[in-house]
Order: sequence, then C-alpha cells, then structure tokens
Amino acid sequence: MQHFNAYEMAVQQFELAADKLDLSEDMRQILRAPKRELTVHFPVRLDDGSIKTITGYRVQHNVNRGPAKGGIRYSPDVTLDEVKALAMWMTWKCAVVGIPYGGAKGGVICDPKHMTRGELERLTRRFTTEISIIIGPHSDIPAPDVNTNSQVMAWMMDTYSMHSGFSVPAVVTGKPLSIGGSEGRNEATANGVLFVTRRAAHRAGMPLQGAHVSIQGFGNVGAIASRLFHNEGCKIVAVSDTTGGIYNEVGLDPAAVQRHKMAHGTVATYPAARRMGSAEVLEVPCDILVPAATEGVITEENAERVQARIIAEAANGPTTPEADTILFKKGCIVIPDILANAGGVTVSYFEWVQDLQSFFWHVEEITLRLEGIMNRAFDAVTGMAERSHCDLRLGANMLAISRVAEATLVRGIYP
Ligand code: GLU
Repeated sequence: MQHFNAYEMAVQQFELAADKLDLSEDMRQILRAPKRELTVHFPVRLDDGSIKTITGYRVQHNVNRGPAKGGIRYSPDVTLDEVKALAMWMTWKCAVVGIPYGGAKGGVICDPKHMTRGELERLTRRFTTEISIIIGPHSDIPAPDVNTNSQVMAWMMDTYSMHSGFSVPAVVTGKPLSIGGSEGRNEATANGVLFVTRRAAHRAGMPLQGAHVSIQGFGNVGAIASRLFHNEGCKIVAVSDTTGGIYNEVGLDPAAVQRHKMAHGTVATYPAARRMGSAEVLEVPCDILVPAATEGVITEENAERVQARIIAEAANGPTTPEADTILFKKGCIVIPDILANAGGVTVSYFEWVQDLQSFFWHVEEITLRLEGIMNRAFDAVTGMAERSHCDLRLGANMLAISRVAEATLVRGIYP
C-alpha cells in the first residue's frame, strides 16, 4: 500500500479551503497546528501477572469556540499523526454543526480484541489518570470512538470522579444511561448519517425506498446505520468488518447479520451471501456507500471503481483529496465526514448540557433537535458549495474554518 499519513491529508484539505477563503498566512499558522499534544507511556498489569508499558495520546487541536471535544480510540496502529488529524477534523466538525466546542482526539496503542475485560479496565483507568492533567468537564471532554464504548466511558468517568472526590458525569460523553448518559447517543452518529443522506438523496432526486446501500465497518456506527437504512426501506447489499465483507444483491437482513457477528465475532462467515474482502464492499454496485470504518480507504487507486452516486462518510477521513477529485469529476456526491458523522458529537453536546444541568430530556426531543441541527448544517454546506462552485467537502471546510477563524480573530492574540 501507498504511504498514507492522516495528518498530511488533514493539512492538505485545510490548505485547499484556506486558499479558497483567502486566509492570511498568520491565521493559517494558528489553525494548522494543534494547541496541545500529550504523549503518555504507562504500565498496565496483565492477567498473567506480567507488566506491559502502553503508549497513549490526547491532542487538543483548537479551543477558540469552546472546550476541546472528541473521542478516544483503541487500536494497535494508532499514531500521534493520526490523532492530530482526527483532532483537527473534530474542530471543523463542531464548527460546521455550530456546537460550542473545539476539537480534540485521543488514542491508545493496544489491541482490545486480544485483551480481557480486567486488562481493558486497568488500561482505561490508568490512561484516564495520565491524561487527567488536561481533560475536564470545562476543558476537554472525551467520548467513544473506534473500539471504545459506553463501558470504557463509565470507567473513565469513575476514575476522574474518584480523583475529584465527587461524581463528575460531564467529563466524558457516550456514558451508560444509568450514570448520566443521554437517550439517543448510541444511535446518534448513524441517525445523523441517515438525516443528511436523506437530504442529499432528495436533492439528487433519488428515492431512499429501494436504494441499494453498501456499508464498510460494522462497529459503533456501521452496524446501527445498516439497521436504520434498512428501516428506511433501503436494501443493504453489502457490509464488512475488519475480518472481511459479504454481498447479496437481493439484500441482507441487518438484524440477522448482527446476531451472526455477536455469535461468531465476524460478519464474513454469514451464510447466504458472497464473501469478499473488506475493501471490496467499497466497489460493489450500489446507490449509497457508507464508509464507516477508518481513514484513507477511498484513494486514487480505487476511486474510479466506486459505483455509488452518494457517499456518506460515517468514518473520519475515509477519502483522500486525490480520490475527492476523481469522485467529483464522476458526479458522485460525497457528504463529507465533518458533516455526515457530526450527529455523534452533537448528541454528545446534548449529553454534556444535560449533565451540567442535571436535567434530562426525552428521546423525542433529542432526535428532533439532532435532525434540526443536521438539516441546517447540510443546507449551509450545500449553500456554501454552490456559491463557491466546489464539492461539499470544500464547502464544509470553508464554512467550518471561517467560523473558527472568526472566533480566533474576535478573541485576539494573548497577551
Ligand atoms: N468519536 C466521535 C467522532 O469522531 C464522537 C466524538 C464525541 O462525541 O465527542 O465524532
């Protein structure tokens, strides 16, 4: 595989928007660099009694519009550059949907699939302690991301609270409901993907009823998206996880695939479907493609073979700038990550507000408010793209970057 560096890609996307906005070099310097990068190395006792030293990161990219916000991922190949890119994308994401946060991200180099629950808990608690010098309910609020979930958030909340001497639910979002989590947070990202896809399909004159959908990734977002798109009347023709993909042009039953994954730990062995590679699901015949796994999967190498008319980026950074150019030329509508998957952080914002006020909302209110925010953001992005004669990614980045630049200007430079 070709050299891929997520941070280089994030900066490349930033420069394209900065050029189009005619941003000064001074402002570019401020917005390009992450504000803080914390690297921690810490020991964790494994179940066999041995000790392993683990490396983790927390990066705060920009906090001019509010406290830093973003998930924490557990993965064997997390790098500082990847976390820097993801933190920058969080800054733009929060700005594009207009929620009062800056951007952050965290990562821990580990393989949760080969760790016991006890090991995961000890790793999480120690990592939380290590980064507690920069996280907090008013400074930086973590959330789930790849390979982390509400249980990991519960351990983080408890650890931070033990150090404080009282419960601090607002320090993380994506928690279980029983300790200050929000209704609708689990489905929020997938729900947001559906809302903006619905709007894009409507604009393109494509009915969602009967539309063929292929989804790469069957985790926090992909699995739920497959269910929601199915309920919307779409045909889920392909799904995949890290072990492989499956395809059936007649349509898969997402609930049955989910049960299979729970029982066997993989979607790849699901019967009554053609088996294929994880990356192959990107190229199957379909109307809507939902990359919901990881960065850099649609590149100049495979973009020409993508058949979908709409790509809704549930993952962060799935499409490289070179692939963007190819897809734009083909007339493919790419709903960019910072817009398409912003439903997650938006309901995280609702969770944080509810925790700070100790006043909780009904799921109907959450869903209604989320839909309003996603639709307004979609319209603002398409408006910007139309006025600027560019694709939705550039439109979204221009909108987001101009909002962060404005906040930076009005705050001024300290001292
Ligand atoms: N990890 C999610 C994202 O990439 C959610 C972040 C959050 O809720 O803070 O947007």
